[in-house]
Amino acid sequence: MKAARPSPYAGGLFRRQFFALLGCSLLFFLAIGVVVAQGAGKRLIARELAACTVRRDELRSRILSFLADGRADVGYLAKLLDAGGEASLTPGGAARSLALFAEGEVHFSEVLLADPGGKVVADGTGAASLANIADRAYFQAASLGHPPVLGLIRAKTTGDAVIALAAAVRPADRGSWVAVGFIPLAAVSAIVGEASRVGLGKAYLVEGSGRVLSGADYPRLFRELGADAASGPEDGYAIRELRAGRSSAAVYEGHEGAWVVGAYSWIETLGLGLVVEVSRDRILEPLSSLVGPGLVVLALAIGILALFSYAFSAALVAPIRALAGAAEAVIGDRGFEPIELRTNTELDELIDFFNKMIATVRAREDGLRDDAARDSLTGLYNHARIEAILEIEIKRKRRSGEKLSFVMLDIDYFKRVNDEYGHLAGDEVLRGIARLLEESVRAGDVAGRYGGEEFAVILDAGSDEEVQVFCERMRSVVEGTRFDFEGKEIRVTVSLGWSRMGVEGLGSYDAVRNADRALYFAKETGRNRVAGGDGPKTMGSLSAKLKP
Ligand code: GH3
Ligand code: MG
Ligand code: MG
Repeated sequence: MKAARPSPYAGGLFRRQFFALLGCSLLFFLAIGVVVAQGAGKRLIARELAACTVRRDELRSRILSFLADGRADVGYLAKLLDAGGEASLTPGGAARSLALFAEGEVHFSEVLLADPGGKVVADGTGAASLANIADRAYFQAASLGHPPVLGLIRAKTTGDAVIALAAAVRPADRGSWVAVGFIPLAAVSAIVGEASRVGLGKAYLVEGSGRVLSGADYPRLFRELGADAASGPEDGYAIRELRAGRSSAAVYEGHEGAWVVGAYSWIETLGLGLVVEVSRDRILEPLSSLVGPGLVVLALAIGILALFSYAFSAALVAPIRALAGAAEAVIGDRGFEPIELRTNTELDELIDFFNKMIATVRAREDGLRDDAARDSLTGLYNHARIEAILEIEIKRKRRSGEKLSFVMLDIDYFKRVNDEYGHLAGDEVLRGIARLLEESVRAGDVAGRYGGEEFAVILDAGSDEEVQVFCERMRSVVEGTRFDFEGKEIRVTVSLGWSRMGVEGLGSYDAVRNADRALYFAKETGRNRVAGGDGPKTMGSLSAKLKP
């Protein structure tokens, strides 16, 4: 079998299929990735929303309890001053009580006592200021008996941002005196800052105006620039929500521009908003750890895809190559071999039809060849075909070393048949003799019409005697046959000459020439005879075998 010629289309099927499948699977993976990431992202964010809410509420209660402690302390101070009677309302007496109180209270940056007119009579340092706090809201509220926490103010004495806690001291018939404790904003900020440090994200306070009270610089800025300009109001979703008095948790774009998950709530008693936020990117960070394994899975999938594509296209390519090879063989006249391949797919149908097609083509071509090789009158092989077969036989005999037997048969005085009965009658006799020849030869023998009224037989004989016997039988059969033409009986005889020789160094010409010479000899010696042998040299001796 000839090795298959490399195809100019080699790999085309594989490439197309592979890239088509690759495209589809990448889209598929992408879709899966997006769905998984979205689902996981949603869960992560929902979890963080809940966590932020919890942190915010914890922080809020810590701040509120811190303030409640402060308020209780100031209430205790008011009671202390109340209990001290007249003496504790004098600057000296009050200063002593305040100093005593301030010693045990670390949270207060300043404590003071103001008379009903708002004039400060003593503070915790003992250095009584002349400040008047009648204009302060906390003073007015405390005078009316409310225990307020009124948010952030700028301390008159230090200028710091402080939270004022005030409580009324009510001696009988002497009006409402007010005890005040200031907690620095820094103390609350510290609680918030501490929460920032422990969590993933950050926490900060927001003033009613929208200013963010966080960062180490805040107290300094507040002091230097004043309460109204410590830092500009910020704008952001949580800040707007807080200013509208709403508390909630959400995903939003923070005031610094990054997306965050946050929880916020307004602390009324403080007049400040509290926000706890975590960067959304940080929350979604675990998802990026899925990318590595995802890529490994993808690479594996592509590998499997390539193998599958290769196997699949190879299964397609094999029958296609077989079909192409078989078609090429038919075109190149190199045979009509059916394809044996089975694929157990629809391709088998194609293979079956292809095999049927080449069988049909072969039968048709054989028929055409045979028609061209036959004599139209007798149906026997024609001269050209006999010559061709003779050549093939000589080659075969040369290989096997056997002898070649060749017989020439010529009708005696055939001219007379034509003359006497007409040409059509002559044709009928030719056909009759052809039939007799066909009936007499065996499989392996080849009979043909060599010329006008001459026939030839390539005989598959094992000895001279066999050839002689065949020729003799032929001669006698013809002699005994009555050919019929239009009711007229025609009888003819034939003369036969044969040759049988080793073909080493010889060609078809020698076989024909020797048989022809023997035929000539048979004619010369009386016709209706058989003559033959190894060649002209032996012709004389062979003549002895001739019939008298
Ligand atoms: P012999 O061979 O015995 O010497 O005599 P012959 O008369 O047979 O030989 P010859 O070669 O003189 O004549 C052969 C004749 O065969 C001449 C020709 O008209 C005739 N013939 C050749 N081919 C055909 C054919 O196809 N049909 C017919 N009817 N006659 C043919
Ligand atoms: Mg003749
Ligand atoms: Mg003749």
